[in-house]
Amino acid sequence: MLALEELNYQIYSCKKCRLWRGAKHGVPGEGPLNAKVMLIGQNPGANEDEVGRPFVGRAGKFLNKVLAENGLKREDLFITSIVKHVSPKNRKPYADEVAACLPYLTTQISVIKPKIIVLLGESAKATPRLQGIEYMEAIHPSAAMRFKKMRNKFKEQIAELAKRMTKLDA
Ligand code: SF4
Repeated sequence: MLALEELNYQIYSCKKCRLWRGAKHGVPGEGPLNAKVMLIGQNPGANEDEVGRPFVGRAGKFLNKVLAENGLKREDLFITSIVKHVSPKNRKPYADEVAACLPYLTTQISVIKPKIIVLLGESAKATPRLQGIEYMEAIHPSAAMRFKKMRNKFKEQIAELAKRMTKLDA
């Protein structure tokens, strides 16, 4: 617990890339320390920046709904993003910003030791691949929310996640 609390404080005061300049809050992520699954998105948006928590806006509500439809509780998962501060106009984080921020994510993964990591959207694919963890790629909830074709695909991907989680418990 201490390791992540300490990490969160480092994130709140981090100035390792330009993103902190336009942000109100760092958004380290949240979830149980013993989470079997981590979801990693692109970056905090305006709503997340406002309150310092991940996936609290419309995309977050949509994510919660699709998780619930598949019998999954958001509270059981650890949710974070590849960079921990909002980006201007919600643009994709640049490569140097991702590189500067990745050590935080690597530490989170090492502490939580999830069985499955779900990479939400393109930017999340920069997540370090560690041995013994199953990685799944999925559409980002904000894209899934906007486009019907992606929405259907995203729902299939979360259903697949639920299936794989059942196998973990077997
Ligand atoms: S995005 Fe990451 S590296 Fe950049 S300032 Fe925020 S915490 Fe630091």
